[in-house]
Formats: sequence, C-alpha cells, structure tokens
Amino acid sequence: MNIHEHQAKEVLKTFGAPVAQGVAITSLDEAEAAVAALPGPVWVVKSQIHAGGRGKGRFKELGPDAKGGVRVSFSRDEALENIREMLSKTLVTKQTGPAGKQVNRLYVEAGAEIERELYLSILVDRETGRASFVASTEGGMDIETVAEETPERIHTVAILPSAGCTEADADALADALELDGTAREQGTALFRALYDAFTSKDMSLLEINPLIVTKSNDIQVLDAKVSFDGNALFRHPDILEYRDKTEEDEKEIEASRYDLAYIALDGEIGCMVNGAGLAMATMDIIKLYGGEPANFLDVGGGATTEKVTAAFKIITSDPNVKGILVNIFGGIMRCDVIAEGVVAAVKDVGLTVPLVVRLEGTKVEEGKKIINESGLNVIAADDLDDAARKIVKAVKG
Ligand code: ADP
Ligand code: MG
Repeated sequence: MNIHEHQAKEVLKTFGAPVAQGVAITSLDEAEAAVAALPGPVWVVKSQIHAGGRGKGRFKELGPDAKGGVRVSFSRDEALENIREMLSKTLVTKQTGPAGKQVNRLYVEAGAEIERELYLSILVDRETGRASFVASTEGGMDIETVAEETPERIHTVAILPSAGCTEADADALADALELDGTAREQGTALFRALYDAFTSKDMSLLEINPLIVTKSNDIQVLDAKVSFDGNALFRHPDILEYRDKTEEDEKEIEASRYDLAYIALDGEIGCMVNGAGLAMATMDIIKLYGGEPANFLDVGGGATTEKVTAAFKIITSDPNVKGILVNIFGGIMRCDVIAEGVVAAVKDVGLTVPLVVRLEGTKVEEGKKIINESGLNVIAADDLDDAARKIVKAVKG
C-alpha cells in the first residue's frame, strides 16, 4: 500500500525525522487557513498523488508552459493562486502514464533553504535478504539516471537484521553523503530512525529524494515516498487509516474485496489465471504473439465459484478488454470450479468479446464438459501456446 508524501512525513516525524511544517488540504475552503498557518517567507505547494516526478510534471488542463506539480511561492497570495490553479487538475508525470492523476489534495509546506540535495532510500534487497540503504550525493533527480550514468555515485549499505543499523553503518552512510558537523550528527541519528521506522512499520520501500542539507548545515526530509507490505497491514491499523482509495484503480479495490491478486494494465487481452508464475508466463506469451495483457490476475489456489465470478466481472468491466484468455492449471484449484465460475459470470454480465479457455489438470474433463454444454461461444485451446495464438488472433482479427 502506498501513502501520500505528507502522510509519510507524519509517520517519519513520530520516529524523530526532521521534516518541515506543513498543512494538507483537500478543498479550496481550507486554502487560506493553511497558508496563514505557515510563517513564510516561502511556501511550497505540493501535489499529493501516489506518483513521483511531480515537480517536473505538467497539468493537462494548463498546457506545457504552465508550472509543474510542486510550486515554490514567495508570498501568501502567490501560494493561494497556485493552490487555486492546481487543485482538482490532472497532473501528468513520468510515473503516472499519459492519462495522469487527478490532484485531489495539496500539501502546503514551509520552504526550505537548500544547500545540497541528496538521495537516501531503504529497500528490501532480495539477493541478500536484507534491508539495504541506498545513498547518493546526487539527490533531487531521477535515481535511475544516476545509476546509469554515474553508478560510482551510488552507495549501498546492507543492514544485518540481528544488529540493526550500527554506528559503522551510519558512518558509512554519512561518508557516502559527505556530511560533516551538525549535518553529520543529525544524519547518523536519522539513518537509525529511518531503519527503525522501516522495520517496525513493515515498509517495503522508504525513499527520500531529496534529503537536504540546509544553508545552516541541518538535515531535512524534503520528499518522502513510502510503501508498506500489504501482507503485514493487519498489524498496523494506524497505517491503514492513511489508505486513499481515490488513488487506487476501482477494479483493484473490488479485487481486493475478494482477495484476488489483480493489477490493471493498459492492454486489450483480459487474463484469468491461477498462480502468479503462470500469470506472468501468460502475459509474456501474449506479448510474444503481439498482444498486450489488460491485467495481471491470479485467482489463487482455493478459489470458489463466487470468487471466479467476481474475477470475471472485474475483467469484463474494463472497457479496453477486447478478448479474454482463461488459463488454468488445476492443481489445488479445480477446473470444474473455474468452468462454473466462468459460465455463471457470463450468464450474469454477458459476453461481448471472444473468450479462449485453456484448462489442464484436476477435473479437467468435468470442466471442459461444463463449458461445452453451456452454450457459450468459447474457443477451446489445447495448451498455453495455442491459447495465446488464438486469443491474439481473435482480438487482432
Ligand atoms: P517530486 O520528486 O515528486 O518532483 P519533490 O518533493 O521531490 O517532488 O519536490 C521536487 C523539488 O522541489 C525538490 O527536489 C526540491 O528542489 C523542491 N522542493 C520540494 N519541497 C520543497 C520545500 N519544502 N522547500 C523548498 N524546495 C522544495
Ligand atoms: Mg522527489
């Protein structure tokens, strides 16, 4: 689960991280009070969407010459003007895709006096099985670009879980970020606080870009992107409070109600598959034959007819879907249950696009029989390759 920048700062603040004063608003009525609450002389109005690259992003409605999604303002009036211009507009950034995201919320923050912009993150390194810090003096820009062009400027420090973030780790990070004096003291305290926040809140990513050194040589968290491990959310009711459903795909919210692993994509072939690995392979093979998957969907091992029906409805509710591929290998999941679900769903919502079904494994004969006797216009497939070819052909004509 992702949260907004201002929420991430709220969380990090409780661990002692230095953040600027700020006020989040969701309507114009709150604008004057928010701006008045901050002393100035600089106010920064920041779009709150679950995507990065906001500063360089552009609002669809305002055209390419208007300013971006993070605006430094030098008077109360300028801040208010920016708020009026930005709220409810659609921001397109490198991470939103061309459709952009509607800005339903703004964060008005005290302006910082920036001396240097640094990069600092903690992520789960799957190779070492440890939480690792990634640090670079090249903050404020795309870390992917830094990694590509100047990889020597990126430093990684893997943390031993039993020891936590040690003094030596903190020192290594402070060296990597070239901190000295007060900034170094504050930095080493911050690294430990961030590691504490990361582990105790079950974060899967904590990215601060930029972490800044101010003109007075203090450290401040200027941007914060935090993702939490969805499987651990049950033990963090305080974090769940931050969930903003307006940021999520409606189909994904519906899928989570049925405990379906579903991710919406931009293609035209809807996929219903069991098992994450098979779902990935199915998407790959659709692409191999020239199609584009409309979603990732793993109905899981013990899916019921009800769950399969829900999955099918979610797929067909996507207007981009021009064809559906059901690819089930029945192990724990039974083919007859899938078949019943598909038939029930089609009877319920109708079927206006071609449907290719490939069933294999447990109760496959029963499953095929249910489909064959249903009167549905289904294209049967023998194997994965055959299924992918047939659905791409049906969609592309
Ligand atoms: P994004 O990464 O989505 O573009 P950031 O929060 O990193 O958004 O903001 C982009 C840039 O705007 C920062 O690199 C920084 O230069 C500037 N900025 C952001 N917040 C402040 C602030 N409170 N004071 C001064 N400058 C800021
Ligand atoms: Mg940033």
